[in-house]
Amino acid sequence: MTAVPVSHPDKIRLGVSACLLGEPVRYDGGHKRDLFLTGTLADYVEWVPVCPEVELGLGVPREAIRLVGRPEAPRFVRERTGEDLTPRMRRYAEDRVRQLAALELDGYVLKRASPSCGLFRVRVYRDGGVPSGDGRGVFAAALVERLPMLPVEEEGRLADPALRENFVERVFAMARWRAFVAGHPRPRALVAFHTAQKFAVLAHSAEQYTRLGRLVAKAGRSLAREVVDEYGRGLMTALSVRTSRGRHANVLQHLAGFLKRELGPDDVRNNVCKRCENKPASIEYCLKNPRWRLSLQTHKYLGIR
Ligand code: SF4
Repeated sequence: MTAVPVSHPDKIRLGVSACLLGEPVRYDGGHKRDLFLTGTLADYVEWVPVCPEVELGLGVPREAIRLVGRPEAPRFVRERTGEDLTPRMRRYAEDRVRQLAALELDGYVLKRASPSCGLFRVRVYRDGGVPSGDGRGVFAAALVERLPMLPVEEEGRLADPALRENFVERVFAMARWRAFVAGHPRPRALVAFHTAQKFAVLAHSAEQYTRLGRLVAKAGRSLAREVVDEYGRGLMTALSVRTSRGRHANVLQHLAGFLKRELGPDDVRNNVCKRCENKPASIEYCLKNPRWRLSLQTHKYLGIR
């Protein structure tokens, strides 16, 4: 069997709003150090910190900025003087995101509520009226438009265990995908890659599971770049769908089907495998044992919630 490329680079590379790492770049000279990012995640990650407002040359401290106008195309203005910085910020954001694309990031964590970095529900002030909360920061908008496959989240949402788990899963999948593509894969390698990902995909989206299976099956003798790109988009789209206990249970039933063929129905029924190192072991142990083909699956069955 072709080696299954489930490995990923030593360090995951993530872009991040610089203030979340504790850099004193906010308009008032402060920061918003995030303990999950600078603690738990830091050991696995190489950070690429970006503060759009400082890089734009607005300085620290600086006059606060707000979004004004229509939420779908807000203006980026100084709060007190009303100076409109929209064209400057848009130009900067497009250039900076192009540079970031060349760095091959595996994901990005943005600061919530910021008129530059906020991804969801950023306040947009109507001229003279009450703010609506359905805008997006100018830099964040450029980022997700230019890099639609990139896993992107806000630090505030990462406090939710399910969203955090989903983000981390997508980031690691992106890193595996990037490593796979860098190896100039042949069709058989795509089959092997898909074999390792498919139950993770099924745990999120049965529709993408079927679609990606068909795509791999008809990949042909030479693996066209379009097929590789389409697979990558499908993989990341699938993983962005929130999973559930029911979907995980469905995956475990599929996995149990494999085990049944290898072990025999009685062992599975009793949740005992007598073939592992001459001692009874649980099915869960079997799934983790490197000797087992199933252990190559990237489905995180232990992350069920
Ligand atoms: Fe800079 Fe963005 Fe943090 Fe504001 S939210 S200080 S623009 S990194």
